[in-house]
Amino acid sequence: MVACKDWHDVPAGPASWMRVTAIERGQYPHPFVAFMAGACYHCAQPVCLKACPVQAISKREEDGIVLVDRGLCLGRDQCDKCLKACPYKAPQFGAEKNPRMQKCDFCLDRWAEEKLPICVAGCPMRALDAGPLEEMEAKHGKTRHAVGFKYHERIAPAVLFKPKPENMPLPI
Ligand code: SF4
Ligand code: SF4
Repeated sequence: MVACKDWHDVPAGPASWMRVTAIERGQYPHPFVAFMAGACYHCAQPVCLKACPVQAISKREEDGIVLVDRGLCLGRDQCDKCLKACPYKAPQFGAEKNPRMQKCDFCLDRWAEEKLPICVAGCPMRALDAGPLEEMEAKHGKTRHAVGFKYHERIAPAVLFKPKPENMPLPI
């Protein structure tokens, strides 16, 4: 989250392109705690794009990255249809007056230099990875479900998980 805000110069405040939430389940002596990193999932069928009344959101043909043109966005005072449409609450808005939508752009500037997104590069545990979906499936498997995440078939978010097993023993 910090690496993302820093790299993209997102000011302190409500907008956070990457969000990490703690998921707690179970009961003592069998608690379950996991962390979910959530940004925009660059869905195959992005409902944000369909919801936008001014075509400010687009999906690139070549790699499927979903982008927002902030110059076209009407601003939250007039419209927040993308936020209402997205089940992952990926569209973000700053604290300024009539903020324009902003969100994860897959670190396009870094891709252009053949570098991984800053969240991937910044994770000390190497818990994140990014790349073409087929490549990620070959490396990490095809699991689309994890505790705390709902996979919506009709939207097809481009994300997969190596979930933490719910019966994983606690470290001593
Ligand atoms: S995660 Fe939300 S904002 Fe991102 S492409 Fe999918 S619907 Fe759009
Ligand atoms: S907030 Fe902006 S990007 Fe989102 S739907 Fe409205 S005009 Fe489009």
